[in-house]
Amino acid sequence: MNAIQNPVEPFDVDSVRADFPLLMREVHDKALVYFDNANTSQKPASVIEAVDHFYRQTNANVARAVHQLGEEATAAYESARDRLARLLNASSRDEIVLTSGTTQAINLVAYSYAMPRLKAGDEILITTMEHHANIVPWQLVCERTGATLKVAPINERGELIVERFVDMLTPSVKLAGVTHVSNVLGTINPIAQLARETRRRGIPLLVDGSQATPHLPVDLRALGCDFYTVTGHKLFGPTGTGALWARKEILRDMPPLFGGGEMIREVSFEGTTFADPPHRFEAGTPNIAGFVGLAAAIDYVQGLGHARLRAYEQELLVHATQALKTIPGLRIFGEAPDKVPVISFLIDGAHAHDLATLLDHEGVAVRSGHHCAHPLMKFFGVPATVRASLAFYNTHDEIERFVAAIDKVRKLLG
Ligand code: PMP
Repeated sequence: MNAIQNPVEPFDVDSVRADFPLLMREVHDKALVYFDNANTSQKPASVIEAVDHFYRQTNANVARAVHQLGEEATAAYESARDRLARLLNASSRDEIVLTSGTTQAINLVAYSYAMPRLKAGDEILITTMEHHANIVPWQLVCERTGATLKVAPINERGELIVERFVDMLTPSVKLAGVTHVSNVLGTINPIAQLARETRRRGIPLLVDGSQATPHLPVDLRALGCDFYTVTGHKLFGPTGTGALWARKEILRDMPPLFGGGEMIREVSFEGTTFADPPHRFEAGTPNIAGFVGLAAAIDYVQGLGHARLRAYEQELLVHATQALKTIPGLRIFGEAPDKVPVISFLIDGAHAHDLATLLDHEGVAVRSGHHCAHPLMKFFGVPATVRASLAFYNTHDEIERFVAAIDKVRKLLG
């Protein structure tokens, strides 16, 4: 069944779970509790079937053939662009560049948009809570241009200190990059408010939406940012899919980053002219089947309705947070009032990896480590955390099992 639910009815998690075959399996002879959704999410049957159907019935290269299969493959692949434009409320499908994910999307902005514009003395502003994907590309272009990176601080609850961010928007700042949702803390940043400030100063704002689209309705026209990125594999779609959104006038001003097939208008040995955006940025044969799957994933999530998912996920977040707080010696990292169900924690005297390994033996999949956020770990003064990240297909019963498993493991380690 593909659960399209009536928005006024209560969320039926059992019927939703039935759409995700992997959730039915066991690990270590125990029913799986999959709490590693911020790492990657599981896929509904409709996504698996769309990819399967593509390879069985439609497989051909895109935009290169006039034969029936080529046309069908192109239409199926291009439907992902339409779905992404609808998901984000973009004003045009031509503003959606299909990428392998957020990492490629941010690198595209760093090298194609920022690098040609940066010079010594210029600055890029990011925040303490960024994923390495929104740090390292900026460091690399800063090295090449003589620009510098500066970092807006967060507070102990794991919230961006907005006044400090605004104070740091000086005339030398040529671009600001902020995550919409922290992959470690779950914090939702006030993007519309930040975008009003950057816009007033003529500074482009890039938003890393990797962790946002699996949880929140995103309306780009209301947010008012200049660049927005999507990760398909966290949005219940296949790996190797994602997008960069940018306004048409910005994309038009960006040179291609990769050269090759499909991104040109005309090639001669004297010179080449390039296709209009978004195709200018999409050289080579893309992950066609992956995007066919992503189109199905977006249909699936939109069929459930983001607003209802969010209400249910908030219930899960409150339940899990309250239950974890009853465990002696457990510290939660990230207690912003506005967050998604991502909970990082440590227990006194226990190493994060030991906790995660023992939880795995109880059937509970969580992530331990630095979560590609070394500077954030440094801010909290810890080398690693355990992270439980929930999705709309998780249940209150699973939270009870998770908390009971932690309590058991804590006693073992203690
Ligand atoms: N930004 C954030 C906040 C993330 O959580 C991740 C994935 N862990 C990335 C960027 C990288 O995204 P991708 O896997 O699409 O390259």
